[in-house]
Amino acid sequence: VAARSEFTLIRQFFSALGATRADVVLGVGDDAALVDSGGADLLVLCVDTLTAGVHFPADAPADAVGHKALAVNLSDLAAMGARPAWALLSLTLPAVDADWLTGFRSGFHRLAAAHDIALIGGDTTRGELAASVTLAGFVERDGALRRDGAHPGDAVYVSGALGDAAVGLRYWQAGRRSESEAVAAAIERLHRPLPRVALGRALVGLASATIDISDGLAADLGHILERSGVGAVVEIARLPLSPSLRSLCSQAEAAVFALTGGDDYELCFTAPPAREPDLTRAAAALGVAVTRIGTIEPEPGLRLVDDNGRALPLPRAGYDHFGGGR
Ligand code: ADP
Ligand code: MG
Repeated sequence: VAARSEFTLIRQFFSALGATRADVVLGVGDDAALVDSGGADLLVLCVDTLTAGVHFPADAPADAVGHKALAVNLSDLAAMGARPAWALLSLTLPAVDADWLTGFRSGFHRLAAAHDIALIGGDTTRGELAASVTLAGFVERDGALRRDGAHPGDAVYVSGALGDAAVGLRYWQAGRRSESEAVAAAIERLHRPLPRVALGRALVGLASATIDISDGLAADLGHILERSGVGAVVEIARLPLSPSLRSLCSQAEAAVFALTGGDDYELCFTAPPAREPDLTRAAAALGVAVTRIGTIEPEPGLRLVDDNGRALPLPRAGYDHFGGGR
Protein backbone atom coordinates (compact mmCIF):
# COMPACT_ATOMS: atom_id res chain seq x y z
CA VAL A 1 0.00 0.00 0.00
CA ALA A 2 3.09 2.22 0.17
CA ALA A 3 2.41 4.76 -2.56
CA ARG A 4 -1.36 4.51 -2.55
CA SER A 5 -3.36 7.33 -1.05
CA GLU A 6 -5.53 6.52 1.96
CA PHE A 7 -8.54 7.98 0.17
CA THR A 8 -8.03 6.07 -3.07
CA LEU A 9 -7.62 2.96 -0.95
CA ILE A 10 -10.89 3.57 0.89
CA ARG A 11 -12.75 4.24 -2.35
CA GLN A 12 -11.31 1.18 -4.07
CA PHE A 13 -11.66 -1.38 -1.31
CA PHE A 14 -14.29 -0.24 1.18
CA SER A 15 -17.08 1.52 -0.71
CA ALA A 16 -20.08 -0.57 -1.81
CA LEU A 17 -18.87 -3.40 0.41
CA GLY A 18 -21.43 -5.79 1.84
CA ALA A 19 -25.14 -5.72 1.24
CA THR A 20 -27.06 -2.78 -0.17
CA ARG A 21 -29.62 -1.73 2.42
CA ALA A 22 -32.46 0.75 2.05
CA ASP A 23 -31.98 2.05 5.60
CA VAL A 24 -28.47 3.41 4.88
CA VAL A 25 -29.01 7.12 4.27
CA LEU A 26 -25.30 7.98 3.91
CA GLY A 27 -22.44 5.45 3.88
CA VAL A 28 -18.67 5.68 3.35
CA GLY A 29 -17.36 9.13 2.49
CA ASP A 30 -18.56 11.63 5.09
CA ASP A 31 -17.47 12.33 8.68
CA ALA A 32 -19.99 9.78 9.93
CA ALA A 33 -22.63 7.46 8.50
CA LEU A 34 -26.37 8.12 8.70
CA VAL A 35 -28.81 5.25 9.11
CA ASP A 36 -32.57 5.15 9.47
CA SER A 37 -33.38 3.01 12.50
CA GLY A 38 -37.06 3.91 12.32
CA GLY A 39 -36.97 6.56 15.04
CA ALA A 40 -37.85 10.22 14.78
CA ASP A 41 -34.17 11.06 14.17
CA LEU A 42 -31.46 9.37 12.12
CA LEU A 43 -28.69 7.44 13.86
CA VAL A 44 -25.20 8.84 13.25
CA LEU A 45 -22.20 6.49 13.57
CA CYS A 46 -18.45 6.92 13.35
CA VAL A 47 -15.23 5.22 14.48
CA ASP A 48 -11.71 6.59 14.75
CA THR A 49 -8.55 4.94 16.01
CA LEU A 50 -5.61 6.61 17.69
CA THR A 51 -2.31 4.73 17.41
CA ALA A 52 0.65 5.59 19.64
CA GLY A 53 3.39 7.36 17.70
CA VAL A 54 1.04 8.19 14.80
CA HIS A 55 -2.00 9.99 16.24
CA PHE A 56 -0.49 10.90 19.58
CA PRO A 57 3.08 10.95 20.88
CA ALA A 58 3.85 7.66 22.65
CA ASP A 59 4.78 9.67 25.76
CA ALA A 60 1.60 11.78 25.79
CA PRO A 61 -0.08 11.98 29.22
CA ALA A 62 -2.52 9.08 29.69
CA ASP A 63 -5.47 11.39 30.42
CA ALA A 64 -4.78 13.20 27.14
CA VAL A 65 -4.98 9.90 25.24
CA GLY A 66 -8.32 9.08 26.91
CA HIS A 67 -9.60 12.56 26.15
CA LYS A 68 -8.41 12.61 22.56
CA ALA A 69 -9.71 9.11 21.70
CA LEU A 70 -13.22 10.37 22.42
CA ALA A 71 -12.66 13.94 21.20
CA VAL A 72 -11.72 12.98 17.64
CA ASN A 73 -14.96 11.02 17.33
CA LEU A 74 -17.01 13.78 18.93
CA SER A 75 -15.52 16.06 16.31
CA ASP A 76 -16.81 13.79 13.53
CA LEU A 77 -20.30 13.80 15.06
CA ALA A 78 -20.08 17.58 15.45
CA ALA A 79 -19.33 17.78 11.73
CA MET A 80 -22.67 16.01 11.10
CA GLY A 81 -24.62 18.30 13.45
CA ALA A 82 -25.35 15.31 15.69
CA ARG A 83 -26.10 14.92 19.39
CA PRO A 84 -23.77 12.21 20.76
CA ALA A 85 -25.19 9.45 22.96
CA TRP A 86 -23.17 6.21 23.24
CA ALA A 87 -19.57 5.07 22.91
CA LEU A 88 -17.81 1.73 22.50
CA LEU A 89 -14.11 1.61 23.38
CA SER A 90 -11.57 -0.83 21.95
CA LEU A 91 -8.26 -0.56 23.74
CA THR A 92 -5.02 -2.30 22.76
CA LEU A 93 -2.40 -2.23 25.51
CA PRO A 94 1.22 -3.45 25.53
CA ALA A 95 0.89 -4.28 29.26
CA VAL A 96 -1.44 -3.60 32.16
CA ASP A 97 -0.32 -0.36 33.78
CA ALA A 98 -2.84 0.69 36.45
CA ASP A 99 -1.51 4.26 36.67
CA TRP A 100 -1.76 4.75 32.92
CA LEU A 101 -5.27 3.26 32.85
CA THR A 102 -6.37 5.52 35.72
CA GLY A 103 -5.22 8.53 33.72
CA PHE A 104 -6.80 7.30 30.49
CA ARG A 105 -10.07 6.63 32.31
CA SER A 106 -10.20 10.08 33.87
CA GLY A 107 -9.54 11.88 30.55
CA PHE A 108 -12.17 9.82 28.78
CA HIS A 109 -14.68 10.13 31.60
CA ARG A 110 -14.49 13.89 31.97
CA LEU A 111 -15.21 14.50 28.29
CA ALA A 112 -17.89 11.78 28.10
CA ALA A 113 -19.72 13.15 31.15
CA ALA A 114 -19.58 16.69 29.77
CA HIS A 115 -21.33 15.51 26.59
CA ASP A 116 -23.79 13.13 28.24
CA ILE A 117 -22.18 10.09 26.60
CA ALA A 118 -22.39 6.61 28.14
CA LEU A 119 -19.68 4.02 27.50
CA ILE A 120 -21.72 0.91 26.71
CA GLY A 121 -19.11 -1.63 25.61
CA GLY A 122 -15.82 -2.27 23.91
CA ASP A 123 -12.90 -4.65 23.74
CA THR A 124 -9.52 -4.99 25.47
CA THR A 125 -6.56 -6.68 23.82
CA ARG A 126 -2.78 -6.87 24.08
CA GLY A 127 -0.58 -5.25 21.43
CA GLU A 128 0.87 -1.89 20.47
CA LEU A 129 -0.90 0.95 22.27
CA ALA A 130 -4.02 2.06 20.37
CA ALA A 131 -7.48 3.28 21.29
CA SER A 132 -10.44 3.01 18.96
CA VAL A 133 -13.77 4.61 19.81
CA THR A 134 -17.06 4.02 18.06
CA LEU A 135 -19.53 6.79 18.72
CA ALA A 136 -23.25 6.94 18.00
CA GLY A 137 -25.71 9.80 18.21
CA PHE A 138 -28.72 11.38 16.59
CA VAL A 139 -29.55 14.05 14.08
CA GLU A 140 -32.84 15.37 12.71
CA ARG A 141 -33.96 13.61 9.53
CA ASP A 142 -33.36 16.60 7.28
CA GLY A 143 -30.72 18.21 9.47
CA ALA A 144 -27.45 16.34 8.91
CA LEU A 145 -24.47 18.48 7.93
CA ARG A 146 -22.89 16.66 5.00
CA ARG A 147 -19.78 17.31 2.95
CA ASP A 148 -21.64 17.44 -0.37
CA GLY A 149 -23.90 20.51 -0.06
CA ALA A 150 -21.61 23.45 -0.91
CA HIS A 151 -22.78 25.72 -3.76
CA PRO A 152 -21.02 28.45 -5.77
CA GLY A 153 -21.49 31.76 -3.98
CA ASP A 154 -21.55 30.17 -0.50
CA ALA A 155 -19.17 31.67 2.01
CA VAL A 156 -16.49 29.42 3.59
CA TYR A 157 -16.02 29.61 7.37
CA VAL A 158 -13.86 28.04 10.05
CA SER A 159 -14.37 27.96 13.80
CA GLY A 160 -11.75 28.88 16.41
CA ALA A 161 -8.12 29.19 15.37
CA LEU A 162 -6.01 26.90 13.19
CA GLY A 163 -2.49 25.50 13.38
CA ASP A 164 -1.89 25.44 17.14
CA ALA A 165 -1.90 21.66 17.53
CA ALA A 166 0.66 21.19 14.75
CA VAL A 167 2.98 23.72 16.37
CA GLY A 168 2.37 22.10 19.77
CA LEU A 169 3.47 18.77 18.29
CA ARG A 170 6.76 20.27 17.06
CA TYR A 171 7.55 21.64 20.52
CA TRP A 172 6.52 18.40 22.23
CA GLN A 173 8.71 16.33 19.90
CA ALA A 174 11.63 18.71 20.39
CA GLY A 175 11.35 18.25 24.15
CA ARG A 176 10.69 22.01 24.55
CA ARG A 177 7.49 21.52 26.49
CA SER A 178 7.18 24.29 29.01
CA GLU A 179 9.33 27.14 27.79
CA SER A 180 6.47 29.65 27.52
CA GLU A 181 2.75 30.02 28.02
CA ALA A 182 2.31 30.05 24.25
CA VAL A 183 4.02 26.65 23.95
CA ALA A 184 1.92 25.24 26.80
CA ALA A 185 -1.25 26.51 25.09
CA ALA A 186 -0.28 24.94 21.76
CA ILE A 187 0.53 21.61 23.46
CA GLU A 188 -2.79 21.73 25.28
CA ARG A 189 -4.56 22.10 21.90
CA LEU A 190 -2.62 19.06 20.67
CA HIS A 191 -3.39 16.84 23.66
CA ARG A 192 -6.88 17.94 24.64
CA PRO A 193 -8.77 19.29 21.62
CA LEU A 194 -12.27 20.58 22.37
CA PRO A 195 -14.63 19.31 19.66
CA ARG A 196 -17.22 21.81 18.42
CA VAL A 197 -20.32 19.79 19.25
CA ALA A 198 -22.51 22.76 20.25
CA LEU A 199 -21.49 24.70 17.14
CA GLY A 200 -22.30 21.67 14.96
CA ARG A 201 -25.79 21.55 16.51
CA ALA A 202 -26.23 25.28 15.88
CA LEU A 203 -25.22 24.86 12.22
CA VAL A 204 -28.13 22.51 11.49
CA GLY A 205 -30.37 24.47 9.14
CA LEU A 206 -27.66 27.09 8.52
CA ALA A 207 -24.63 25.40 6.93
CA SER A 208 -24.75 23.94 3.42
CA ALA A 209 -21.70 21.66 3.98
CA THR A 210 -19.51 20.86 6.99
CA ILE A 211 -16.38 18.85 7.80
CA ASP A 212 -14.14 18.75 10.84
CA ILE A 213 -10.50 19.71 10.41
CA SER A 214 -8.41 16.71 11.40
CA ASP A 215 -5.87 16.60 8.56
CA GLY A 216 -5.40 20.33 7.91
CA LEU A 217 -7.72 22.95 6.41
CA ALA A 218 -6.51 22.56 2.82
CA ALA A 219 -7.04 18.79 2.82
CA ASP A 220 -10.34 18.83 4.68
CA LEU A 221 -11.88 21.75 2.78
CA GLY A 222 -10.69 19.81 -0.27
CA HIS A 223 -13.01 16.95 0.74
CA ILE A 224 -16.00 19.36 0.84
CA LEU A 225 -15.03 20.69 -2.59
CA GLU A 226 -14.61 17.25 -4.09
CA ARG A 227 -17.84 15.86 -2.63
CA SER A 228 -19.79 18.99 -3.63
CA GLY A 229 -18.29 19.21 -7.13
CA VAL A 230 -17.15 22.82 -6.63
CA GLY A 231 -13.99 24.84 -5.91
CA ALA A 232 -13.08 27.63 -3.51
CA VAL A 233 -10.93 30.68 -3.12
CA VAL A 234 -9.43 31.20 0.36
CA GLU A 235 -7.88 34.49 1.46
CA ILE A 236 -4.71 33.68 3.36
CA ALA A 237 -4.88 36.90 5.42
CA ARG A 238 -8.24 35.82 6.84
CA LEU A 239 -7.04 32.51 8.33
CA PRO A 240 -7.72 32.70 12.08
CA LEU A 241 -4.43 32.42 14.00
CA SER A 242 -4.25 32.35 17.78
CA PRO A 243 -2.08 34.84 19.69
CA SER A 244 0.12 31.95 20.84
CA LEU A 245 0.66 30.72 17.27
CA ARG A 246 1.50 34.27 16.15
CA SER A 247 4.01 34.60 18.96
CA LEU A 248 5.70 31.27 18.11
CA CYS A 249 6.10 31.63 14.34
CA SER A 250 6.42 34.10 11.52
CA GLN A 251 3.27 35.11 9.65
CA ALA A 252 4.23 32.88 6.71
CA GLU A 253 4.95 29.84 8.92
CA ALA A 254 1.73 30.37 10.85
CA ALA A 255 -0.27 30.37 7.62
CA VAL A 256 1.34 27.09 6.53
CA PHE A 257 0.54 25.50 9.91
CA ALA A 258 -3.04 26.80 9.65
CA LEU A 259 -3.46 25.34 6.16
CA THR A 260 -1.73 22.01 6.57
CA GLY A 261 -1.40 21.33 10.30
CA GLY A 262 -3.46 18.40 11.53
CA ASP A 263 -5.32 17.83 14.77
CA ASP A 264 -7.12 21.18 15.08
CA TYR A 265 -10.62 19.62 15.32
CA GLU A 266 -12.28 22.87 14.36
CA LEU A 267 -15.21 22.88 11.94
CA CYS A 268 -14.95 24.12 8.35
CA PHE A 269 -18.33 24.87 6.80
CA THR A 270 -20.07 26.70 4.00
CA ALA A 271 -23.28 28.71 4.03
CA PRO A 272 -25.18 31.00 1.66
CA PRO A 273 -24.35 34.68 2.31
CA ALA A 274 -27.96 35.31 3.43
CA ARG A 275 -27.28 33.11 6.47
CA GLU A 276 -24.46 35.27 7.76
CA PRO A 277 -26.53 37.26 10.33
CA ASP A 278 -27.99 34.03 11.80
CA LEU A 279 -24.55 32.43 11.85
CA THR A 280 -22.99 35.40 13.58
CA ARG A 281 -25.74 35.39 16.20
CA ALA A 282 -25.46 31.62 16.80
CA ALA A 283 -21.67 31.73 17.13
CA ALA A 284 -21.81 34.72 19.49
CA ALA A 285 -24.39 32.95 21.68
CA LEU A 286 -21.98 30.01 22.00
CA GLY A 287 -18.90 32.18 22.49
CA VAL A 288 -17.22 30.47 19.51
CA ALA A 289 -15.25 32.51 17.00
CA VAL A 290 -16.36 31.89 13.43
CA THR A 291 -14.30 33.45 10.63
CA ARG A 292 -15.23 33.86 7.00
CA ILE A 293 -12.13 32.78 5.04
CA GLY A 294 -13.33 32.55 1.44
CA THR A 295 -15.96 31.76 -1.14
CA ILE A 296 -17.17 28.71 -3.05
CA GLU A 297 -16.75 28.95 -6.82
CA PRO A 298 -17.89 26.73 -9.69
CA GLU A 299 -14.36 25.84 -10.93
CA PRO A 300 -13.04 22.77 -9.05
CA GLY A 301 -9.97 23.05 -6.81
CA LEU A 302 -8.74 25.18 -3.95
CA ARG A 303 -7.16 28.55 -4.74
CA LEU A 304 -5.24 30.67 -2.25
CA VAL A 305 -5.00 34.43 -2.63
CA ASP A 306 -3.16 37.20 -0.76
CA ASP A 307 -4.59 40.56 0.41
CA ASN A 308 -4.42 41.89 -3.14
CA GLY A 309 -6.22 38.92 -4.66
CA ARG A 310 -2.97 37.57 -6.15
CA ALA A 311 -2.77 33.78 -6.44
CA LEU A 312 -0.43 32.00 -3.99
CA PRO A 313 0.90 28.44 -4.26
CA LEU A 314 -0.78 25.89 -1.97
CA PRO A 315 1.55 24.37 0.59
CA ARG A 316 1.61 20.58 0.57
CA ALA A 317 -1.67 19.47 2.04
CA GLY A 318 -2.86 17.19 4.79
CA TYR A 319 -1.76 14.04 6.52
CA ASP A 320 -2.40 10.96 4.44
CA HIS A 321 -1.50 7.72 6.20
CA PHE A 322 -0.54 5.86 3.02
CA GLY A 323 0.54 8.74 0.84
CA GLY A 324 4.02 9.09 2.30
CA GLY A 325 3.11 11.46 5.15
CA ARG A 326 3.44 15.20 4.94
P1 ADP B 1 -12.43 11.36 9.19
O1 ADP B 1 -11.12 12.05 8.97
O2 ADP B 1 -13.60 12.27 9.16
O3 ADP B 1 -12.43 10.45 10.40
P2 ADP B 1 -11.55 9.41 7.30
O4 ADP B 1 -10.63 10.20 6.46
O5 ADP B 1 -10.99 8.57 8.39
O6 ADP B 1 -12.65 10.41 7.92
O7 ADP B 1 -12.44 8.48 6.40
C1 ADP B 1 -13.08 8.98 5.25
C2 ADP B 1 -14.33 8.17 4.98
O8 ADP B 1 -13.98 6.82 4.67
C3 ADP B 1 -15.29 8.09 6.15
O9 ADP B 1 -16.61 8.14 5.66
C4 ADP B 1 -15.00 6.73 6.77
O10 ADP B 1 -16.14 6.19 7.39
C5 ADP B 1 -14.61 5.91 5.55
N1 ADP B 1 -13.66 4.81 5.86
C6 ADP B 1 -12.37 4.92 6.23
N2 ADP B 1 -11.78 3.70 6.37
C7 ADP B 1 -12.73 2.79 6.09
C8 ADP B 1 -12.77 1.38 6.08
N3 ADP B 1 -11.70 0.64 6.37
N4 ADP B 1 -13.94 0.77 5.77
C9 ADP B 1 -15.03 1.51 5.47
N5 ADP B 1 -15.06 2.84 5.45
C10 ADP B 1 -13.93 3.50 5.76
MG1 MG C 1 -13.90 14.06 10.11
